Amino acid sequence: MSRKLFVTTALPYANGPFHIGHIMEYIQADTWVRFQRLQGHEVHFVCADDAHGAPIMIAAEKAGLTPQAFVADIAAGRKPTLEGFHIAFDNWHSTDGPENHELARSIYLALRKNELIESRTVEQFYDPEKGMFLPDRFIKGECPNCGAPDQYGDNCESCGAVYTPTDLKNPRSALTGATPVLRSSEHFFFRLSDPRCVEFLEEWTQDGRLQPEVANKVREWFKRDEQGKVSLGDWDISRDAPYFGIEIPDAPGKYFYVWLDAPVGYLASLKNWFGKIGIDYDAYLADPSLEQIHFIGKDIVTFHTLFWPAMLKFSGRKVPDRIYVHGHLTVSGAKMSKSCGTGISPLRYLELGLDAEWLRYYICAKLNGRVEDLDFNPDDFVARVNADLVGKYINIASRAAGFLSRRFGGRLSADVGVEGRVLLDGLRAQADTIKGLYEEREFGKALREVMLLTDRVNEFVDRIKPWELAKQAGMDAALHDACTVCIEAFRVLTIYLKPVLPALAARVEAFLQVPALVWADSARAMGHHGIGEYRHLMQRVDPKRLEALFEPPADAPPAQEEETPPGGEALAAEIGIADFAKVDLRIARIVAAERVEGSSKLLCLTLDAGEGRLRQVFGGIASAYAPEQLAGKLTVLVANLAPRQMKFGVSEGMVLAASHADKKAHPGLYVLEPWPGAVPGLRVR
Ligand SMILES: [Zn+2]
Repeated sequence: MSRKLFVTTALPYANGPFHIGHIMEYIQADTWVRFQRLQGHEVHFVCADDAHGAPIMIAAEKAGLTPQAFVADIAAGRKPTLEGFHIAFDNWHSTDGPENHELARSIYLALRKNELIESRTVEQFYDPEKGMFLPDRFIKGECPNCGAPDQYGDNCESCGAVYTPTDLKNPRSALTGATPVLRSSEHFFFRLSDPRCVEFLEEWTQDGRLQPEVANKVREWFKRDEQGKVSLGDWDISRDAPYFGIEIPDAPGKYFYVWLDAPVGYLASLKNWFGKIGIDYDAYLADPSLEQIHFIGKDIVTFHTLFWPAMLKFSGRKVPDRIYVHGHLTVSGAKMSKSCGTGISPLRYLELGLDAEWLRYYICAKLNGRVEDLDFNPDDFVARVNADLVGKYINIASRAAGFLSRRFGGRLSADVGVEGRVLLDGLRAQADTIKGLYEEREFGKALREVMLLTDRVNEFVDRIKPWELAKQAGMDAALHDACTVCIEAFRVLTIYLKPVLPALAARVEAFLQVPALVWADSARAMGHHGIGEYRHLMQRVDPKRLEALFEPPADAPPAQEEETPPGGEALAAEIGIADFAKVDLRIARIVAAERVEGSSKLLCLTLDAGEGRLRQVFGGIASAYAPEQLAGKLTVLVANLAPRQMKFGVSEGMVLAASHADKKAHPGLYVLEPWPGAVPGLRVR
């Protein structure tokens, strides 16, 4: 029976281009969607830009644009990357689209009618210069736990403490530098603590629709106290003007918090798509056989397993059937972090002319159905693509196609003999196993099965030795059969790989002169069929070209430089030379560098600043440098910074390093090093 599937990926925040994590999720979802379509199922696959919220409003202002224009610029850059990686969304929309405004309001009004919305007075930090309430990430100060300076309002990057902005010492606005004041404001809350929500969510999260590890994690949120009460907190869903978002009905100057209307964007994009192709949105969602499936990363599980299903349920809408959670993509190995530290830019991957399907294959080969991180390793990448994909699979076609076109006019033989039939039947018999693995998102296992089948075919070729048959008189029929088996096997394997490698499959279909292959074609033989001329189907990876991916680009794209300030942040307020002179910067030698047990961010440096004693300084540079890279180097020390007691010991100063304001999009971190000739103790002025 044909299934009806509505599939989404998480909406990317529209403050920057895609990063490799987005592309990994899209590859996972796109592969699954393509697989379903090959089965003959009906899928609508949509996404959108997550356009609202204070960070976008502020970034737009810095860029001198309206938020709408800022978001439109980001959206314009999406298409080439999506097409480049063969991500075939049916529709790409924006949460600022009219459908989303309408849907978010109507969901809210239904929740209000259901007595699940409540207003409360909340005290918050307010920037008197800017005239706005400050989001947590726009308040900075000293960590209340360890005293580290320049920490965000919600957690400390130095010691990892989590707190509220009002706990910060010497808080200031990251926008203006002003000291924020506490002001009260009316906020709206979604009453997740209501027994109806608790009862519904406890059932919905534990009925088998979530991955076991996700369901287990979620179960912790439903722990009961001695009175048997669950402490699920209510959710603050409003923000005060100025805010870029959707205004709340009957509440002028109040806007939906971006996380309320972001998931509504799934529905808005679907509705927008149906408007274009003339499908009745309400009728579609009312169909009880419809499966609604969201692919997301593990960082946004709370939103998708509590708030989102409860919002839908209590506004009288369909709730999601599945939430498919994946882990994060890490880029590791000392070799990588040394040269890059910057992750992988999807756009640069395409600009370098690297084949998108290498990445699709590599990522799928490492994906499974669980919430596990996936590590990108360049050596492994080269090995899998060159040895498996090209060496085992493509090789099958290239070994047989030449004989067929030269000796047999490109025609396959009608029958292939017993040994060939056994081999092909064996390949076809795996269709259901591989199908089951794709369905469960066990792509790594599915591809392993396919590679085992390629081994069988290559063993057959090595045994039959077509190149020797070709030299022997009277062996034409045997040669013809052997080559036919190879091409027939290649076609079956192509079907199994088609969800992952759609563009390659299209080239194979052209070469085989067959219509677009579907899953069921694996069970049928081509028979006495004419195929086209073999042309190279896929290159091997040149490791040198892959290395270029991890080198910083020669010149940054100029368009970006015009739109955002250098390094992602506006210049700090002007100071006089006397202010600067207060900071005593000295050249120091890194005598030793060590990892700090219990911290993934910090390195402990032993420094010689020419004082006749050594200093201990903690620096948040472990993400970019291995200790052995630093020992012996010269650097710049803030020498008169008051010593700070940190969780791991006292830090006597600070080492200077350059980084981008948006550490997520630009994780690069660069410790300063003086020109040769400098010696410890010299002052930097
Ligand atoms: Zn701290």
